[in-house]
Amino acid sequence: VAEGAESKIMLVKGDNGNMAVPFSALCEAFAKVEATTKRLEILEIVTDLFLEIMKCGPKQLTECVYLCVNRVAPEYESIELGIGESLLIKAIASATGRTPEKVKNDLKALGDLGKVAEANRGKQLTMGAPKPLTVSKVFQAFRDIATSTGAASMQKKVNSISRLLVSCKGNEAKYLIRLLEGKLRIGLAEQSVLAALAHSSILYHRGLNGKSAKKAIASEDGEFQEAAATIKSVFNELPDYDKIIPVLIKEEYKNLPDLCKLTPGIPVKPMLAHPTKAISEVLDRFEGIAFTCEYKYDGERAQVHHMDDGRCMVFSRNLENTSEKYFDIVKAAKTYAKSETKSFILDCEAVAWDREKECILPFQVLTTRKRKLGKEEDLKVQVCLFAFDLLYLNGESLLRESLEKRRELLYSSFDIRPGYFQYAISKDLDSIEDIQKFLDDSIEGNCEGLMVKTLQGEDSSYEPSKRSRNWLKVKKDYLAGIGDSLDLVVVGAYTGKGKRTGVYGGYLLACYDPDSETYQTICKIGTGFSEQDLENGKKELEQYIIPEPKSYYSFGESTKPDVWFEPARVWEVKAADLSISPVYKAAEGLADSNKGISLRFPRFIRVRDDKAPEDATTSNQVLDMYQSQKLNQQ
Ligand code: ATP
Repeated sequence: VAEGAESKIMLVKGDNGNMAVPFSALCEAFAKVEATTKRLEILEIVTDLFLEIMKCGPKQLTECVYLCVNRVAPEYESIELGIGESLLIKAIASATGRTPEKVKNDLKALGDLGKVAEANRGKQLTMGAPKPLTVSKVFQAFRDIATSTGAASMQKKVNSISRLLVSCKGNEAKYLIRLLEGKLRIGLAEQSVLAALAHSSILYHRGLNGKSAKKAIASEDGEFQEAAATIKSVFNELPDYDKIIPVLIKEEYKNLPDLCKLTPGIPVKPMLAHPTKAISEVLDRFEGIAFTCEYKYDGERAQVHHMDDGRCMVFSRNLENTSEKYFDIVKAAKTYAKSETKSFILDCEAVAWDREKECILPFQVLTTRKRKLGKEEDLKVQVCLFAFDLLYLNGESLLRESLEKRRELLYSSFDIRPGYFQYAISKDLDSIEDIQKFLDDSIEGNCEGLMVKTLQGEDSSYEPSKRSRNWLKVKKDYLAGIGDSLDLVVVGAYTGKGKRTGVYGGYLLACYDPDSETYQTICKIGTGFSEQDLENGKKELEQYIIPEPKSYYSFGESTKPDVWFEPARVWEVKAADLSISPVYKAAEGLADSNKGISLRFPRFIRVRDDKAPEDATTSNQVLDMYQSQKLNQQ
């Protein structure tokens, strides 16, 4: 049992005179979490923090939770912190009266801007003793920084960060800067934050704290686990702390699923599929189970929300609001619905469509559609929406219904409009030959392959955010070479020579390891790029150049690139195979005791705008691919 979990928070007077949670209490908890790798201990530290703050009401707890997950708003609002290094360097320089060059030198020595800010604390310019920072004040300042735009906003941001830094004490500057960078990296996963919310809510409603709280947790593990599972599942349906936390403080966790439900206007985390390498694998998985095959369309995932009041919104796989990009879908969605269909959430793929030839166009065409449209005449790329699921209908969530039922409701609640709104083509098949034929047909029809899904019973419910074995993807490419493509983060580049003078000649890519929160290099890549890709790469990546590699980059000396980038861009890549490597670091120590895994003959496929660096292929997925390749060779 962590000793520190006993400590009480000393509340301070906030700007409005009310009692407020000091930022130092949060930083103290961060430091304790960072100092341990034990999941139970982390859970206990955060539970204790939340329990104390719960007594200060929903607003402060919500702010605190957002800071713990390093955000200032729900993911779907796309309000990002992620302040660039150069701006933070300016703010640290301004708060400490040093030149940006000196701060940059410190960064080279210490490798982490948070540590630079902490080390420079003694040099801060202060006019008398500043008031202690509160969680509310930091959160509000962060929100303003994240939402302010325009020419004057840069200087305003520098000033605001510098003011916060001047008020920092102890370890506050370190965490303040890391939060602003969007790289807290203390090993606190969102799943642990949700579990801590569940535990603290039970203790809060029972009026327990200190030793009696710990005793309760130790003796009634079952109930605490159930509460954590309930909150996680509620959060997948309604990923919005602003909505969940006030209810959690007022009500027992058991009532949460009835009070916080899937809501049109708030995207649900999409269900994901498992890759398979052979049709025989599909049959093995679904032996004795009813399943259905659908075309796997190659476009962009579009979750279409239509509300009772007539408003409509479209969200991407990443929960990003793409309503502007797909304003034509927003305008037309209601017209595809039958008159009795008032509110709905559809899961679809938006695919580029040739209106003259009436056929699907390649994914590359869709990428040329502008992100911000507005006028019909600007619309060069037309899309057709292929609906494959219905998640909500006329006030009712359908997530727990079987796919068979959801499909039945989908087919009966809408009208097809060829070239604009269609259902994913599907067939219920059961032999290798028939599935192979259907796969070939899908490729012929410009699709990527098939999605194979459980059709009936509980196992066919919609599982938000899960990469479920109830959905398998079969891509044509899998059948040769290494299964799925990889989505990798661009961490560095090499200067171009000869024909590539003026653009980058090649790039250094990395996968993501969520356990250690590190990016591990996996290959250099120089193939698969068109001239346009190379020019775009140079233009887009310049803004992410950093003087030194991040402390959480794992790389071999011999692969050091000429420039380093912040983890920002994700590229889809294919390769001939995977091999054990002494210089690359992906899944290091997992397949071989002290070596990593690398890609052989990697080829650039496309930019993945819809994936954040943390959504990149993980080290464990790389390991899986390596192992299944080995199995195939046996
Ligand atoms: P993942 O989403 O699994 O991480 P990814 O983004 O690279 O990987 P794919 O591996 O190509 O996506 O497969 C899943 C995607 O396929 C879905 O997110 C969806 O956009 C698309 N898709 C196309 N047709 C269908 C369909 N019939 N059912 C479900 N998804 C489909």
